[in-house]
Amino acid sequence: MPKAKLQYLTDELEKLREQKLFQKLRVLETEQLPLSRFDGHPVINLSSNNYLGLTTHPKLRRRALEATEKWGVGSGAVRAIAGTMTIHMELEEKIARFKHVEASVVFQSGFTANAGTVSAILGREDVIISDELNHASIIDGCRLSRAEIKVFPHKDVEACEKVLKEIAPRKCHKLLITDGVFSMEGDIAPLPQLVELAEKYGCIMMIDDAHSSGVLGRNGRGTVDHFNLHGRVDVQVGTLSKAIGALGGYVCATRDTIDFLYHRARPFLFSTSHPPSVAATCLAAFEVLEEEPQLIEQLWTNAKFFKEGLKKLGFNTGVSETPITPVIVGDAALAHDFSRQLFAAGVFAQGIGFPTVPQGKARIRTIVTATHTREELTRALGILAEVGRKLKIIG
Ligand SMILES: *Cc1c(COP(=O)(O)O)cnc(C)c1O
Repeated sequence: MPKAKLQYLTDELEKLREQKLFQKLRVLETEQLPLSRFDGHPVINLSSNNYLGLTTHPKLRRRALEATEKWGVGSGAVRAIAGTMTIHMELEEKIARFKHVEASVVFQSGFTANAGTVSAILGREDVIISDELNHASIIDGCRLSRAEIKVFPHKDVEACEKVLKEIAPRKCHKLLITDGVFSMEGDIAPLPQLVELAEKYGCIMMIDDAHSSGVLGRNGRGTVDHFNLHGRVDVQVGTLSKAIGALGGYVCATRDTIDFLYHRARPFLFSTSHPPSVAATCLAAFEVLEEEPQLIEQLWTNAKFFKEGLKKLGFNTGVSETPITPVIVGDAALAHDFSRQLFAAGVFAQGIGFPTVPQGKARIRTIVTATHTREELTRALGILAEVGRKLKIIG
């Protein structure tokens, strides 16, 4: 039998296995809850982005069912042809009002929102100035745009300004882009300083608030609201897949920018829109953000409690300032071993290594939600302490 054409992929997998970096997908057998069952094991779940517990909120569930009854299960077309339903427009209007911007467009995911927007608004002759830890969807969008990409060290405002000075003479469109909250570190972008630089050097300012939507700012309006920078950020991206509990991404900008994206953003033009149930769920979620601010308060109370607990145990939690708290262990094999042993002991915290984080910065990542009980968080800390000592990660 001739060597299979895809044998090189099998070889790559074999290498991953040898390095103990091969990971089987964990299968969730219950709803997405603070205490869930994965692969037959009930575990305290510190791996979901379900910050406010909205994946199972009764109001959202009901709206999804009602929308399915009323409008069916699918939209049947891309937005730009026959797939724009009343409920899609209602959601975009709701988001624009919520975020205090002129207009918004909803994409199938946060990923397509970033990739579709960056690649649409910039071209070959332009320059993008990007934080080194920006999300993969931003990086892909930058590459698809064919613009020149200048990466600055994480949150380094001075280095960013140096780049902007260098390119100041160039007559082209310039985009300064950053995550609002960084998904692997849990730290917040220096947005006030970056916005000043963007204004000083005439850059378009764009921010990806995936982990800040529903988490930071009044009622979860994101980092622009958190820093009170309304009107000074040209493009805000948010996700509907994390705290909002369903699926999707959105872009907030001027009416004209959004109309331009309706004509040029490729995921909008060439991929089918959300089922009506998803749009209805998201609409209900924005109502919940306004009706139940105590969810966000509880999220932050839990996050502070858990982060303090990890620090007291002696874990290296890096520079986190949000409900995302990494526990940095360095070696990737150790991080995966830590994660596996935690799982066996009843805590699910994902191990993360290269290329998601730099070599030597491997970690497990913990995310607490508003719906974890104090008892669950205390129990999780106990298990982390026990396994951490066994693996000599802490003394
Ligand atoms: C999760 C994430 C996205 C992608 O959002 P989805 O809605 O899951 O596609 C984009 N940017 C950042 C920073 C993220 O963490």
